[in-house]
Amino acid sequence: MTFFVYAANGIAGDGHVHRFQGTTDLDAEHFHRITGYTGPAIPLESGAHFHWIQAEAEEEPFQFREGYYKTVLTIPRHSHRFAGPTGTGIGYFPEGW
Ligand SMILES: [Zn+2]
Ligand SMILES: [Zn+2]
Repeated sequence: MTFFVYAANGIAGDGHVHRFQGTTDLDAEHFHRITGYTGPAIPLESGAHFHWIQAEAEEEPFQFREGYYKTVLTIPRHSHRFAGPTGTGIGYFPEGW
């Protein structure tokens, strides 16, 4: 999935969370919007930190076609659960945003 984790005022050891939003990219046929909050900060020895994300995608499937986001009507609404760690660069837009 592709997502953007908003910057938050926090340090590695204070248990802060971030809001995030993004899209799933589970397969080539469609994707879903996701929004939510990360888990609390997990400090690394370097002084940096990361967070675990566990969330459920919104139920509306989308496709990106001819420059537009379009709701996919050929498949029923459904959701996906996903979980994983945030990467480095929290608070920065990933390339391509
Ligand atoms: Zn953080
Ligand atoms: Zn789906």
